[in-house]
Amino acid sequence: MIQSYIRDIPDFPKKGIIFKDITPLLQSPEGLQMAIKGLAQVVDPASYDVVVGIESRGFIFGTAVAHHLKKGFVPIRKPGKLPSKTASEAYELEYGTDKIEIHLDAVRPGQGVLLIDDLLATGGTMSAALNLVRRIGGRPVACAFVIELSFLEGRKRLGDVAVHSLMKV
Ligand code: AMP
Repeated sequence: MIQSYIRDIPDFPKKGIIFKDITPLLQSPEGLQMAIKGLAQVVDPASYDVVVGIESRGFIFGTAVAHHLKKGFVPIRKPGKLPSKTASEAYELEYGTDKIEIHLDAVRPGQGVLLIDDLLATGGTMSAALNLVRRIGGRPVACAFVIELSFLEGRKRLGDVAVHSLMKV
């Protein structure tokens, strides 16, 4: 069970938030295998070409899934980190806004994309990531998360793309 490897940290990074800590999952050989295999199985690997992961915990899972399935990996990063030409997308946070970026040439036109992050909360981050992938010509096939905070109804913000999670809270 993925659940048994996720640790709740109350009031981190601020009061009132229950942070879902994935480090016990990463630390466990069985837990890590379960997570990577689970994410690799959410959709038929033949239906997409590239795995996109969102900084920074999406890199851990996304790269492992890409390697497992012999796909390429594309990072979506925080502003100012990617060295070549980028597309950027702003999204709402609880207080203020944030931004994420992707290289313009990271995906070839029409390529199918699986997007991966560790956790779906309000869906703001993944919704911005989907916009980025579409803007550079990619075709999002599905989004996959280790954890979904389903009470926040983030999947409603992701439109008609398939949404998969290995565990729901
Ligand atoms: P959201 O854009 O609201 O769906 O938030 C998703 C992003 O914020 C993911 O990259 C998560 O890593 C992080 N995140 C949001 N809430 C939590 C939480 N309770 N525990 C751990 N990470 C979180």
